[in-house]
Amino acid sequence: MRSRKSTASGSAPCACRSRRAGSSLSDILTRATPDGDDFAQDELGPRYRLTGNKMWISNGEHDLSENIVHLVLAKIPAADGKLVPGAKGISLFIVPRLLANAAGELTGERNDVALAGLNHKMGWRGLPNTLLNFGEGTFPVGGRPGAVGYLVGRPGDGLKCMFHMMNEARIGVGLGAVGIGYAGYEASLDYARNRKQGRPSTPAGKDPASPPVRIIEHADVKRMLLAQKSYVEGGLALELYCGRLVDEARTGPTGSVAAIKALLEILTPIAKSWPSEWCLEANNLAIQVHGGYGYTRDFPVEQYWRDNRLNMIHEGTHGIQGLDLLGRKVLMDDGRALGLLAHRIGQTVQQAGEHAELKSESAAVARGLQTLLDATRAAWSTHQPDEALANATPYLQAFGHVVVAWLWLDVACAAVVAAAGRDDGFLRGKLQAARYFFDFELPRIDAWLAVVAARNPTCREMQDAWFET
Ligand SMILES: Cc1cc2nc3c(=O)[nH]c(=O)nc-3n(C[C@H](O)[C@H](O)[C@H](O)COP(=O)(O)OP(=O)(O)OC[C@H]3O[C@@H](n4cnc5c(N)ncnc54)[C@H](O)[C@@H]3O)c2cc1C
Repeated sequence: MRSRKSTASGSAPCACRSRRAGSSLSDILTRATPDGDDFAQDELGPRYRLTGNKMWISNGEHDLSENIVHLVLAKIPAADGKLVPGAKGISLFIVPRLLANAAGELTGERNDVALAGLNHKMGWRGLPNTLLNFGEGTFPVGGRPGAVGYLVGRPGDGLKCMFHMMNEARIGVGLGAVGIGYAGYEASLDYARNRKQGRPSTPAGKDPASPPVRIIEHADVKRMLLAQKSYVEGGLALELYCGRLVDEARTGPTGSVAAIKALLEILTPIAKSWPSEWCLEANNLAIQVHGGYGYTRDFPVEQYWRDNRLNMIHEGTHGIQGLDLLGRKVLMDDGRALGLLAHRIGQTVQQAGEHAELKSESAAVARGLQTLLDATRAAWSTHQPDEALANATPYLQAFGHVVVAWLWLDVACAAVVAAAGRDDGFLRGKLQAARYFFDFELPRIDAWLAVVAARNPTCREMQDAWFET
């Protein structure tokens, strides 16, 4: 039972976008109109009435907390009653499920927010995902349909306000992907250490009379474990680095804050997308290490894959992250953020190059960075967005691999220094995973960046009719 008169604090906020708009926020159709002549005098902020539907709202309806507070994007119609086209007309509103007074106490009145249906998901089954109707009159407020909402910030500043929340949410998505990837790595490591199957190949062939070995002794299983380790620990380094930038943007010396924010801006699409793709691949490999058992519900790895699969979709799809990176972030302020990132990468390259055992890795990162910078210039050399952006996803992948190679180089430096000639298993593991990343992963960027630099038209020029089967 919910208490009818208690404070609304502790309620779960959730962000709501429109049913139709999806990736394209400028197409939002939800309306917000001033609620009465005194709408601007409400102690909780300018009060509006909202109407529209919102799809995909995680935790949009539940009874785990006493209230649910929706953050809703909607458009305030112009004087002629029409919605302003594009993103400029979007505003952000606080829309509680249960209404509260200025002291934060529930008034006992239900807001006009109604559950229209549930989405039946592949994973993330621990929370409901909902379709909500706002303001259709299921729960009229003061005898009238319309969900009561309070304006956040100024009219038209909705996206600015939402991205304030979303940028950190994107780092959260990346960190979540790392966590699920790590769980799969640990589960498959444990399995590989215990499962006995197959015999080693020797120059004399396989000895059928010998006992089977643990599968962790097969090079191909070690490949799958090393790939997972390089993805999940590389992803963790990325998220921790971005987390530190978030802290420094608030606490760093005034003179450096602008540079830190610029770095955070350019790394946010990577922090969101890279673990979403590669820690999902780690989960895929965790299933493979389990063989047939990985395909059953007796082991947790199938659930990890299902849960992680969401991360390339929500909080801006993979495709949208690529467009954001190549279409906006690398260009902003005449490429200042990209320049700052390149400078930091250069510092690590120089530092690592001083260790004899990291010379080739250090050179590989320098080469990768140069290829990335050259491809960025080539992509935009004709100033045609459709040509540059047609290959934004391979660009995103290559950018992410260069960034994670840089972080692995940093980790390798720390491991070399910490080992100081000692044979320490933990540090050897870090160095071997870094080596895996440099030998098996980083070379992929050449193929990705070749299509970017050539402004390869294959995907752009493909016609709907040619997909005929
Ligand atoms: C389980 C789950 C929970 C969610 N929780 C929430 C939530 O709590 N709050 C919330 O607001 N949303 C939530 N979402 C919605 C999620 O953010 C959207 O699904 C996502 O933004 C993609 O929108 P869409 O599904 O409409 O796909 P679409 O926008 O239709 O995209 C479909 C495909 O087309 C591509 N595409 C679209 N536009 C372009 C373009 N301009 N250029 C190139 N490619 C393009 C996309 O990359 C994608 O591959 C949730 C979704 C799921 C599945």
